[in-house]
Amino acid sequence: MTIHVLPDQLASQIAAGEVVERPYSVVKELVENAIDAGATAITIDIRAGGRELIQIADNGDGIPADEIETAFQRHATSKLSSADDLWVIRTLGFRGEALAAISAVSRLTVVSRARDMDTGVRLLLEGGVTTTREVVGAPAGTVIAVENLFYNVPARLKFLKSVTTEKRLIDEFVTRYSLAYPGIRFRLSHDGRITYQTTGSGATADVLLAAYGPDTTRQLIEVQPAAPDSPRGEGQRYKIDVRGYVSDPALTWSGRNHIQLFVNGRTIRDTRLTFAVVQAYHTLLPVGRFPLALLFIELPPEEVDVNVHPTKVEVRFRDESAVFGAVQRAVRAALVETSPARGASGWAFGSSSPSSWGGFRAESGPGELPSTQLDIPWQLRGPEPERTEGDADAPPPSLPGTDSARLPIMRVIGQVGAAYIIAEGPDGLYLIDQHAAHERILYEQFLAQRQGQRVASQGLVAPATAYLSPSQAHLVEEQLDLLTSLGFEIESFGPNAFRIRAVPAILSRADPAAALAAVVADLENETTPLKSETEALVIKRVCKTAAVKAGQTLSPQEMDAMILQLEACDVPHTCPHGRPTLIHLSAALLARQFGRT
Ligand code: ADP
Ligand code: MG
Repeated sequence: MTIHVLPDQLASQIAAGEVVERPYSVVKELVENAIDAGATAITIDIRAGGRELIQIADNGDGIPADEIETAFQRHATSKLSSADDLWVIRTLGFRGEALAAISAVSRLTVVSRARDMDTGVRLLLEGGVTTTREVVGAPAGTVIAVENLFYNVPARLKFLKSVTTEKRLIDEFVTRYSLAYPGIRFRLSHDGRITYQTTGSGATADVLLAAYGPDTTRQLIEVQPAAPDSPRGEGQRYKIDVRGYVSDPALTWSGRNHIQLFVNGRTIRDTRLTFAVVQAYHTLLPVGRFPLALLFIELPPEEVDVNVHPTKVEVRFRDESAVFGAVQRAVRAALVETSPARGASGWAFGSSSPSSWGGFRAESGPGELPSTQLDIPWQLRGPEPERTEGDADAPPPSLPGTDSARLPIMRVIGQVGAAYIIAEGPDGLYLIDQHAAHERILYEQFLAQRQGQRVASQGLVAPATAYLSPSQAHLVEEQLDLLTSLGFEIESFGPNAFRIRAVPAILSRADPAAALAAVVADLENETTPLKSETEALVIKRVCKTAAVKAGQTLSPQEMDAMILQLEACDVPHTCPHGRPTLIHLSAALLARQFGRT
């Protein structure tokens, strides 16, 4: 075949593939255009998940009649004029590709009237070629209807996912942008039915209610931008504002897709920043569970390159670690500041009014919303995570500097199956796993001792002897300093044998040799080179060994003491391995289950 330049239309179709991957991408580009045009109301109508119709109407600036054809040419934009502008982009669009691309692969109708013109114009394009143009009366703003997407690109059509998948992507996108732009009134309909709308009141809290409903919204914690005079991260040269909402640690999801990040008003995908959010929660979440986060990151536009990818969802930061640090600090601070007003006024035992419990969460919800009632949605927790003892997310052995404790005062009712404590709280029943709860209690007590450099050690009246395999013996020798610092007193006692003279005080009732063997077994499975993680591992094992087991009958006094201590924990909802310590059956749930509501 001879070399030749591709016909324009074919070139356009090929280029379109980069921008318009699927119906959702069309929605994204058109909504971003509407936002760039200063719209305060955006209506999105979808048919068949976008295959039949995607129509976006806005009340923005409109497109001047004499520029409308230009807008549909490739690389035509009003948002950029020189190369320098590329570094200070403040609009969502700038590449001038979307309208050209979308019209190249669909039948498109646009009606637009610029605000300062008397009449509008209506344009029809098929496969990017204008077939009709007429002057029409129209309200200020723009309506773009995209029909039969990919009708002329059968290959692309074949790869489209199901209608349900496209609908879901569109729903997620509209929700996300409505949260980022609470001042814009969004309305979304599928196949003629309105499925989502916001008020445009400007209050994020209103949008949260629309997007997530009252139960979840109540459990969100506001992330506030750091005060202007607060210290910046090390080496951070400019201001990075992080604001938004994160979920209470008691509220978790099985995936990361509720972690939504915006940079200067643009939705982005960034695995590192997502990780920063998750890390800010560290021991607060059960293994394999993720929080919800809605974070708006603002930084000088010249510090971020949005021109990395045609769809503009990936960005590059000039100083990635500064942004990472800022996100992590902001989330952490929000979690820390949500301190419980434990035993706060307003609680009277036996009170039948749930609102009298408001004191416990008085500070946690978004300001504008009623934030009453503790409600750990156990039904959202999903199945118990796998029992992985060598937990890879091991926290560094320092007290997590947070106070997410929001356990109410509980009254012990009894024990079931010699494994669980039943307690009554302000809002229903609590089932507490005695082993997991005790592990958590011991863990925090141990860490507190460790921080104060005074880990209590218990001398053994009769020293115990542990016989280990050669590799295990080697490990013990290698970690002898660590074991000593944690309360063990061990000396060599012949080949592969050790004499144990003292153990951490909390192990005083355990079999010393078995306890050491368990610690060593954990160390054997450990791969981390990090000293802090090794230490955490040993501490967790010690606490697990010392904790009461299932099958142990507890006296009422012992149960009372345990509940009191659990209430005092920083992170009462999970054991150090990330498993839940309790299940809450709220009064509302009980009423529902009994058919009383
Ligand atoms: P970009 O958004 O990157 O500039 P597009 O192809 O998406 O490129 O749009 C081309 C131009 O058309 C925009 O720069 C803008 O001037 C105009 N335009 C597109 N959509 C709208 C709209 N909804 N309201 C007003 N102007 C619009
Ligand atoms: Mg655009």
